Amino acid sequence: MKHRIVVLGAGYAGAIAAGRLAKRLHPDDTEITVVNADADFVERVRMHQVATGQDLKRRPLTDIYAGTGVDVRLARVTAVDADRRTVALIDDHGTDEITYDTLVYALGSTAADHVVPGVAEHAYDIAGQPSALRLRDRLAHLAAGGTVLVVGGGLTGLEAVTEIAEARPDLDVAIAARGGLGDWLTGKAQQHLRGVCDRLGITVHEHTDVARVDATNVVTRDGREIPAQVTVWTTGFAVHPIAAATTLAVADTGQIVVDDSMRSVSHPDVYAVGDAAIAEGPGGKPLRMSCASGIPMAWQAADAIAARLTGQTKFPKAPLRYFNQCISLGRRDGIIQYVTADDRAKPARLTGKLAARYKEFVCVGGAWSIAHPVLYPVRRHRIVATRSEIRSAAS
Ligand SMILES: Cc1cc2nc3c(=O)[nH]c(=O)nc-3n(C[C@H](O)[C@H](O)[C@H](O)COP(=O)(O)OP(=O)(O)OC[C@H]3O[C@@H](n4cnc5c(N)ncnc54)[C@H](O)[C@@H]3O)c2cc1C
Repeated sequence: MKHRIVVLGAGYAGAIAAGRLAKRLHPDDTEITVVNADADFVERVRMHQVATGQDLKRRPLTDIYAGTGVDVRLARVTAVDADRRTVALIDDHGTDEITYDTLVYALGSTAADHVVPGVAEHAYDIAGQPSALRLRDRLAHLAAGGTVLVVGGGLTGLEAVTEIAEARPDLDVAIAARGGLGDWLTGKAQQHLRGVCDRLGITVHEHTDVARVDATNVVTRDGREIPAQVTVWTTGFAVHPIAAATTLAVADTGQIVVDDSMRSVSHPDVYAVGDAAIAEGPGGKPLRMSCASGIPMAWQAADAIAARLTGQTKFPKAPLRYFNQCISLGRRDGIIQYVTADDRAKPARLTGKLAARYKEFVCVGGAWSIAHPVLYPVRRHRIVATRSEIRSAAS
């Protein structure tokens, strides 16, 4: 019987892990199934572009994996039983259960609301395609002079506010940041960011903590009201509750705790990658939710799984570290902030048009590598270990 590998989620991390596994393992020995709620690979890093009316290239998963031996199952995961090694699914035909020998959990994340009153009722987010499309529709119906407030001064907030202000110069666009604007960036990059906000007419509310969201304004912790016919909430990501409902070891955030090979510290048959997992990065700091770390996590998991199944004692170590933060500021501007391995700003940065092109190149490159899994180098080793040998070696 073939070794059954099930990959849950075909975002950046899951899609890459599945393609790489197909290239590492022999199809006569393994059955690889990717389960995803969406029929397409969705470029989540472009959701601010979707919200402002730009259309993305469609990338159907069945096209991506054609000829690779990877099966695509279009379904929503509702539960995982990590002790029975089963996954509960629901699709258009009803409910189902599938069994795995090795699981790669890559269900990503969604918007976090930090339980601020009114967010669920009134705010929009761009953490996924359905919510970005909802915001797109709302913005399309917002008349000139309408007020938009982006709450959150992190990477997603900066990309969202500049994209909206550039696409809709007729709107009154603002950002509320808990700290100083881009205060983790190097001084020159912060100056550039302020210049872009000025140029695009963005009102910046710094050191502003939003305590409540209403239909046409927000209220700050110090009692100020900021007009906002549309509030866009970008204060962070949260994981789906599925992992926390299992016997898998999870952190307070609900992310699956993994070792440096991306294997669950509690269940050796389970690997977790991308936003859904918490792994230690350089300096012992947890890797942040990002493609920048999710993609190498996926390489690492696939290489570790393939090595362990094929009896190799060593496998390559993926670069689980940071090199730069690539921030788009609309379509014509950006900041590339070079960072240390543990993500602290270094003096070097790129700004302006060149940075915008660099960021675009990174996004295109990421999507292209997912859409062309057949181009990975082929090293199809044969499986040597039986399932019980693998489990006992792991325990
Ligand atoms: C607007 C925006 C801009 C960003 N920009 C950057 C950036 O510039 N650089 C960077 O490094 N990161 C960026 N990020 C973060 C980055 O997008 C995420 O960290 C990355 O997508 C995580 O990859 P993932 O594979 O773990 O999850 P995802 O990409 O979210 O993929 C998860 C997959 O699982 C599927 N799924 C979820 N739940 C279920 C279920 N129950 N059943 C079946 N399928 C399910 C989803 O459909 C999806 O296909 C950005 C995010 C946003 C929202």
